[in-house]
Amino acid sequence: MHTQSHALINMALLSRAHKPHRHGCALLGAMLPDVPIFVFFGVESLLLRHSQSEIWSERYFLPEWQNVIDPFNSIPLILLGVGIGYLLRSDRTRVVCWSMLLHCLADFFLHREDAHRHFFPFWDYKFKSPISYWETDYHAGIVSAVEIVATIGASVYLFPRLKSYFGKAALIAVNAISVLLYIAFIFVFA
Ligand SMILES: [Zn+2]
Repeated sequence: MHTQSHALINMALLSRAHKPHRHGCALLGAMLPDVPIFVFFGVESLLLRHSQSEIWSERYFLPEWQNVIDPFNSIPLILLGVGIGYLLRSDRTRVVCWSMLLHCLADFFLHREDAHRHFFPFWDYKFKSPISYWETDYHAGIVSAVEIVATIGASVYLFPRLKSYFGKAALIAVNAISVLLYIAFIFVFA
C-alpha cells in the first residue's frame, strides 16, 4: 500500500478522542517501515544516479538493500516493540509499534514480486500475494480503487478529530495528491 494510505488509515484506526498524542505516534509507526525505502531511493537516484528501471527491477532486490529494508518490516521484531511498550506502560511506544504492525499486515496481503521477508531475521519466507496494490497483472486496478476509497473514508473520520488547522490542511493536501496520483495511475495503465 502507498505510504500515505498506511498513514491515514492507521491514524484513523488508532485514534482515541482523549489521547490526541496518538495521531503523531500512529503517523510515525505507519511511515517507519517505508523509511529505509526512501533512503534507498535517495541513495540510488541522487547519489549513484541509477535509472528508474534499474533501481526498481535490480537494485531494490540486492541482498544488501533487502537487509536494510526488512528489519523495519519484521513482524517478530515489531511484536518485541509492542511487548516493550506494554512493559514500559508507554502508550506512545505501543501505538508506534501497533501502527508498524498494521502497515506490515496490509503489505503482507498486497505485495507480490516485491514482498518483504516479514519474519526476518528468523525466517526468509515471503508471501507472494495473489493481489497487488501496483502490479496491474495482479488486480492492482481494483486493489488501488479500494485503497483510495479506504483512505478517503479514514480521512473523513479523522478530519473532525484533528485539532490543528495545519493538520486539517495537511489531511486535505495528502488526499488531493493521492487522488491525482490515482488518476495518473489509471490513465497510464488504461
Ligand atoms: Zn509498506
